[in-house]
Amino acid sequence: MSFVVSTLLSQETIADRVRALGEQIRTDYEGKNMLLVCVLKGSFVFAADLARAIDLPMKIDFLGTRSYGDGTESSGVVQITHDLSRPIEDVHVLLVEDIVDSGLTIAHLLKLLRTRNPASLKVCSLLHKPSRAKIEVPIDYLGFTIEDRFVIGYGLDHAEQYRNLPYIGVLTA
Ligand code: 5GP
Repeated sequence: MSFVVSTLLSQETIADRVRALGEQIRTDYEGKNMLLVCVLKGSFVFAADLARAIDLPMKIDFLGTRSYGDGTESSGVVQITHDLSRPIEDVHVLLVEDIVDSGLTIAHLLKLLRTRNPASLKVCSLLHKPSRAKIEVPIDYLGFTIEDRFVIGYGLDHAEQYRNLPYIGVLTA
């Protein structure tokens, strides 16, 4: 089946928002022992751009997750496929996500990471689909609120394709 991709958020729109988020995060984390955690795979592009928009010393680590569901819905049962490389005790952790949909994945990750006693734990998500929320999760820094559409590009996939699109698009059959 071939799809047509239409642009939802252009490269320029994303870049402007990422710059603003980076500036806001710089102000909040100044002087703090900061760790940016990229939640793989979907947030790899956003996290790379965001990290370069935050003009502060920081460490960067990666958390690989796999969510068991029926393919389009997250079940909230999240398997860690790649754990952080170091302890996060007394570290100011910023979790970077591509999209908060049902909220189950981020809720699970927050619960898990809190047990490791970070100095603080916050969430930065590029996208949020509030209409699909199954659980309320705190999003401390948010790029864009979007409607209930399946989006691809800028790290987000459909069957592992489209992650390298430089913008956020929607697929139409
Ligand atoms: P949640 O647990 O919040 O329902 O799901 C979060 C994960 O589901 C995201 O990290 C992402 O991998 C996937 N996801 C949710 N909505 C979309 C979407 O519109 N497009 C893509 N490509 N992935 C999505």
